[in-house]
Amino acid sequence: MSAVDPKLLEILVCPLCKGRLVYRKDAAELACRADRLAYPVKDGIPVMLEEEARKLPPEEEIA
Ligand SMILES: [Zn+2]
Repeated sequence: MSAVDPKLLEILVCPLCKGRLVYRKDAAELACRADRLAYPVKDGIPVMLEEEARKLPPEEEIA
């Protein structure tokens, strides 16, 4: 699993709310707390598309 470039993580925001994202390394996804969506990271490349994002269930912590 390739890690996301930290510089890229600094500038990435949620395409919907323009908010900060939480990088979940283990799950290889970037989560938005406001929208409760998780964007997948494929081969170290974040896929910032709403259609590709996973809906986070209410019981799932975003940390
Ligand atoms: Zn958002």
